[in-house]
Amino acid sequence: MDCIFCKIINNELPSCKIYEDEEFLAILDIMPINYGHTLIIPKAHFKHILDMPESYAENIYKIVKKLSQAIKEALKCDGLNIIQNVEKAGGQEVFHSHLHIIPRYLDDAFKLNLSKKRYENNNAMQIVAEKISQYL
Ligand code: AMP
Ligand code: ZN
Repeated sequence: MDCIFCKIINNELPSCKIYEDEEFLAILDIMPINYGHTLIIPKAHFKHILDMPESYAENIYKIVKKLSQAIKEALKCDGLNIIQNVEKAGGQEVFHSHLHIIPRYLDDAFKLNLSKKRYENNNAMQIVAEKISQYL
């Protein structure tokens, strides 16, 4: 399979590793939004979180917390973004599941919330909530 993250996991491509266990690898993103921008990658190939077994989805958050704490203390950042881009519409470019931990600073120029909407009214909001609840 021609997957860049599988190649990194198999040591066929170089990477800057900062954490590894049986299930996950964490590396520095090669094009960071800020220095220390980290990717947590399951060693098995899944397309994204919707494709991952529940146990992986549970276990990954233990590592997110450990790494987030380390990144915040080491880099003295003011905050973090913890993000997974899902599918092309969500901005996913590498289709091997991964989660971003991005160090953030009060004065950095990166903006996630450029074009937010408002619900037409409370009813429109309630309809969306009920629609999602039906699938839980
Ligand atoms: P996404 O848009 O969520 O799929 O993010 C993919 C991320 O992988 C991007 O932030 C890229 O900069 C990063 N990336 C791509 N190739 C490499 C690589 N060889 N080593 C480290 N990070 C990479
Ligand atoms: Zn892969």
